[in-house]
Amino acid sequence: MKDFDYIIIGGGCAGLSLAYELDIHKKLQDKTLAIIEPRNEYKRDKTWSFWKIIPHNFDDCVKKSWNNFSINIPNKTKHLECKNYPYQSIDSGLFYEKIIKKLKENKNISFYKDISEINSENSFIFNSVPKLDLNKNNLWQHFCGVEIETEKNFFDDEIMNLMDFDCEQKESVHFFYTLPYSKNKALVESTWISMMNDDSEKNYDNQIKDYVENHLNLKDYKITYKEEGAIPLFYPANKTEKNKINIGTAGNMTRLSTGYTFLNIQEQSRLIRKNIENINKIKLFEIEKKYQFLDKIFLKVIKKNPNLMPGIFFKMFDSSSNTVIKFLSNKSNIFEDFSIILKMPKWIFIKALFRN
Ligand SMILES: Cc1cc2nc3c(=O)[nH]c(=O)nc-3n(C[C@H](O)[C@H](O)[C@H](O)COP(=O)(O)OP(=O)(O)OC[C@H]3O[C@@H](n4cnc5c(N)ncnc54)[C@H](O)[C@@H]3O)c2cc1C
Repeated sequence: MKDFDYIIIGGGCAGLSLAYELDIHKKLQDKTLAIIEPRNEYKRDKTWSFWKIIPHNFDDCVKKSWNNFSINIPNKTKHLECKNYPYQSIDSGLFYEKIIKKLKENKNISFYKDISEINSENSFIFNSVPKLDLNKNNLWQHFCGVEIETEKNFFDDEIMNLMDFDCEQKESVHFFYTLPYSKNKALVESTWISMMNDDSEKNYDNQIKDYVENHLNLKDYKITYKEEGAIPLFYPANKTEKNKINIGTAGNMTRLSTGYTFLNIQEQSRLIRKNIENINKIKLFEIEKKYQFLDKIFLKVIKKNPNLMPGIFFKMFDSSSNTVIKFLSNKSNIFEDFSIILKMPKWIFIKALFRN
């Protein structure tokens, strides 16, 4: 069986981002890489969105970028600007196509469906398959989004709607998210933050239909694409071992209060590429400890007081949008952190701090 210098387990967002980063920086000219990915074909399955706070390799896969966004709670709306850090949406179909095409040009890179097809004993492994603990007390961000198209112009494509909490919350946190790609095309998503114990929350098709038809007042439309997923808002149980690094979701790249992962994956890939020659000696990239600490408290508040969350998210945006974006993208300084913390209901957060 064939030996490789490096193995990437899982050719999804993190695995392919890392392979691409290594390839374009010529780190695979005299090293071999095997990518283990069981899927039979790559097709569009996700839309990755984020505020562009750092550069990344995939500007040509951006479907749309916005300089304005809004957030709603019943009877109140905030319109905010984000031109310093535009909100971008990446089409995973374009991302997969671009990367696979480039990687196939390098004869040192091979693709396999299963790790048993190669000899992995002497390789350095980057693993992106998370070990998820299905404990019923864990929180998830679970959602379904549909892309809808209208005959006539309907959407204002200059502004995206980050969170519309004017909807049924049940005992959880629920909001709609609308990304207008053009005047007659938008992604509309129903998103829940919950322990996924209530199956009725997964009745996404009806939720979206009701929202589009009775809230947006759009009756004449067709659905052209659908995506569904669940992001764990807890760290997977993967352990770091000698000659093995966990990347992506498996490597704790998800910001637990928001589910944002894509740009953290890009930063992690860059750090690995810069240190690939000494990979066993580097300090692994991680989301800064202060965010891990604050997110843990935030998630406790979500669990205990889900009904307060629409107001808490809304109030957070009383700080300048640049400050909130930097905080949510793990790039805030101490003054910006305080500006956000001071907007939170103090007593509830202090109680959460001391609760198990
Ligand atoms: C639908 C959806 C939308 C999301 N939207 C956003 C967003 O807007 N912004 C954001 O920042 N984050 C978003 N996320 C979160 C995160 O960015 C993605 O989950 C991202 O794909 C994580 O990358 P990953 O490589 O860790 O996992 P994946 O992309 O899931 O890759 C893991 C790969 O491992 C493969 N695999 C599985 N089992 C095995 C095995 N046994 N052996 C080998 N390979 C295996 C899978 O086929 C897959 O290709 C979203 C997540 C989902 C599910």
